[in-house]
Amino acid sequence: MTDWDKKTKAVHSGTRRSQYGEVSEAIFLTQGFVYDSAEAAEARFLKAGEDEFIYARYGNPTVRMFEDRMAALEGAEDAFATASGMAAVNAALTSILRSGDHVVSSRALFGSCLYILEDVLSRYGVEVTFVDGTDLDQWAEAIRPDTRAVFFESVSNPTLDVIDIEAVSQLAHAQGAIVIVDNVFATPVFSRAIEQGADVVVYSATKHIDGQGRALGGVVLGSREYIRKTLEPYLKHTGGSLSPFTAWMLLKGLETMDLRVRAQSASALTLARQLSGHEKLSRVLYPGLPDHPQHALTMRQNGTAGTVLAVDCGTKDAAFKVLNALQIWTISNNLGDAKSIVTHPATTTHQRLPEVQRAALGITAGLIRLSVGLEAVGDLLEDLEQALATI
Ligand SMILES: *Cc1c(COP(=O)(O)O)cnc(C)c1O
Repeated sequence: MTDWDKKTKAVHSGTRRSQYGEVSEAIFLTQGFVYDSAEAAEARFLKAGEDEFIYARYGNPTVRMFEDRMAALEGAEDAFATASGMAAVNAALTSILRSGDHVVSSRALFGSCLYILEDVLSRYGVEVTFVDGTDLDQWAEAIRPDTRAVFFESVSNPTLDVIDIEAVSQLAHAQGAIVIVDNVFATPVFSRAIEQGADVVVYSATKHIDGQGRALGGVVLGSREYIRKTLEPYLKHTGGSLSPFTAWMLLKGLETMDLRVRAQSASALTLARQLSGHEKLSRVLYPGLPDHPQHALTMRQNGTAGTVLAVDCGTKDAAFKVLNALQIWTISNNLGDAKSIVTHPATTTHQRLPEVQRAALGITAGLIRLSVGLEAVGDLLEDLEQALATI
């Protein structure tokens, strides 16, 4: 099974069929499982076998199919699914950290990730050093012998900084630190994070894995030892487990993810090229453009630049005008969806950040994040052109 292409794995890996031989994965909407005898219950609590489940917070056959399929896709030994991407990020960090530990993290993070690293961990005596994730010298300086973990988004939200997984992993491993990568923007389609050195990979399944704006979900991937001995005990007792119904939706999402993500990435590249140098835009940020500072790294690391780009209209007023004039692009804050979505990070997803911090991250008043969907790219471009013409 390991030499199947990702496209094949995304359709078939992890499938468990019941005695009925159903084609489409069954939804086991059950919270619990029945034991044949008191002795069987005792034995299962002592050690559950391959097809044995205890309680849906610990695991469920539909959820396990999703976990096994994700592990196969990512090239990880094992996986644990969570109720949201943030449950995955939180559990990946808090399951391994204890008071007195040191963490190094890139500064350019999704707002909720920043909240965990900045506000939550410090309350439990974990020291966090923030670095510019694109600057390897800063990582080298910040990682110390007592650093327990490093954390970063391999492609940052929303300014699309790309971080060198291999180089940061080498620096971290030299000091014995665990590498945790939030890999949402890279997507499981293009990710090679584990072979590049990541110990733990986290996805919000809400994004490209569902890809159709229906559900929240997440997953943590890593070695069997880490997933079963460290993460699972933490998650199964703290309650962040994924619902079987959502797992089923995500399994359906995985079947089409490769096609969707490749089409959306191709459209994103077309739009970035067309918008680059546009008279109404001061910046077009997309790692697929040769002028992006990490263009070569992006091509080496993922082979392509993904489904999201960002443009700068100069002022908040101009950005709002563009957003309000768009007819196909919807104003929302998800990404990776079949529907193209525009977001104004400074006033929504990154509103919580102080102005100086936003400025340091390049989240300017005129910045718009564009998540490219599955509509005809010509229509998307025409819509952007007419909206840009209003400023
Ligand atoms: C969306 C997102 C998350 C959080 O995922 P949810 O499913 O919304 O909880 C975490 N990290 C990144 C980079 C994201 O884009």
